[in-house]
Amino acid sequence: MGTLKFILFIKKYLIHLTGLILPLFTLLSAQLLYNFSKRAILIYFIVIIIVTYTLQLIRDKKFFIIYLFFTSFLISLSSFIEISHFIIFKDAISESTIYIVLETNISEFSEFFSSYFRDSVLVFALLHIISFTVGIYYSLKTNTIQIIKKSIPLIIVLFLLLFSITYKLRSDFLPYTIYSSSITYLQQREAFNDIEILKNGNFKNIEYKEEKEEICVVIIGESTTRNHMSLYKYYRDTNPLLSKKSGLTVFKNVKTPHTHTIPALEDVLVLDNSNISNKYNSTLIQLMNSANYKTYFISNQKPIGIYETSITLMSKTSDKSYFTAISDTKLYEVILKPLDRVLAEKEKRKFILIHLMGTHLQYSKRYPTKFNIFKNIPRTKYKHETAYSTINQYDNAVLYNDFIINTIIEKVNNYDSNSYVLYFSDHGEDVYETIDEACHTESKGTAPMYNIPFIIWQSKKYINNHKSIKNKELPYNSKYLIHTIADLSQIKFTKFDKNKSIINQDYEKSN
Ligand SMILES: [Zn+2]
Repeated sequence: MGTLKFILFIKKYLIHLTGLILPLFTLLSAQLLYNFSKRAILIYFIVIIIVTYTLQLIRDKKFFIIYLFFTSFLISLSSFIEISHFIIFKDAISESTIYIVLETNISEFSEFFSSYFRDSVLVFALLHIISFTVGIYYSLKTNTIQIIKKSIPLIIVLFLLLFSITYKLRSDFLPYTIYSSSITYLQQREAFNDIEILKNGNFKNIEYKEEKEEICVVIIGESTTRNHMSLYKYYRDTNPLLSKKSGLTVFKNVKTPHTHTIPALEDVLVLDNSNISNKYNSTLIQLMNSANYKTYFISNQKPIGIYETSITLMSKTSDKSYFTAISDTKLYEVILKPLDRVLAEKEKRKFILIHLMGTHLQYSKRYPTKFNIFKNIPRTKYKHETAYSTINQYDNAVLYNDFIINTIIEKVNNYDSNSYVLYFSDHGEDVYETIDEACHTESKGTAPMYNIPFIIWQSKKYINNHKSIKNKELPYNSKYLIHTIADLSQIKFTKFDKNKSIINQDYEKSN
């Protein structure tokens, strides 16, 4: 081959390679954001070259153009979505993303999206449009059919080989998670559809005071043991705000039935979980629906996943739901915005259920830097650096939790209404207290995992209209929560049992 011929040959291929500008761009973005392995990048790039050249085998020019356009468009758009998602949430797309996009209404979603929006997403959108247009333009200008034809068998073998390798490494590829999580979402949805869930559940003989105005807020905490709260005599001042709050009743001796989120909340938020149909038709939200409250669910946890789906299913009967977190690294003050809007709504009777990320692992991600207060060596019998830093992080998260709960109470108090806020944690956590680790495992089942905070704040109007609470020292199990809330809101129903309500004047024993 002469030099000139060689240059022409290379030039021809180079022109064709400009058609790869789109995938190349996508790849570089991915490398930048996901930190892909070099091996994955190399294989992906080779696959794209082969696929692009194989495309040239399509003889019908019109069909080729349509095919090229749509596949490139699809790849470009979905890569753009995945990359933007990564920029915004610092996390890959998951089935929770798909849930939030598809199951919340447009105005809620656009508000959600705008609160997260970054200018860099616009830049990426622009770059994708340019690379897509340029890529398509050059791909159409080239014609290498003759060269390709000679090497068909080689291409097929290589293609199959590379396909099998990329399949193995698939989670590293763009765009992949957008499709895989859509499939998971659809599967979950099918499971949802199998259960008939009634708006008002199956509560019987509901009685309530129709004329009564009320704002009820129930906050579900996460992995917070009362053993690390100064409200419960912890030696560090982890509750500087709540300890000064008036109208607060701190129940000293409440335990959770389970030390994991789902089993605990399936007991706590449900009246009867003897079978799956009863479970999703006797929830706290349905009780409040039956008693003519406008019901809201605001969550800072992800809607879909092994730890979340069941609660999301329960939340579906609320009048409105807001999911404020896609990745679990977002600080939970983001719930305050939807809370403001819900509180501003002109409804006579409101029930607002808030699900926080609380003090869940990784503790260091649960508070902003200005709450990084506890840095000294903490009290623990486990004398090593990991225990010290973990306890400090946990205590900082508890401190931030104090700030959030206090802020929620203040917001409710601003409305000067007949209102109460009940806060409890789904379960506790043992943080180097009785075991040499930090966790909430039921098989270990230590006391700090079962000891939960249980606190009720009541507004002045509420206190004036109701009997005072006197049982704060008595033992109680949070699995009877529905009875306490029904009692707080003066709701009665067939299975209501005043002996299971900690605030009832007749409550006297541990259940
Ligand atoms: Zn939990």
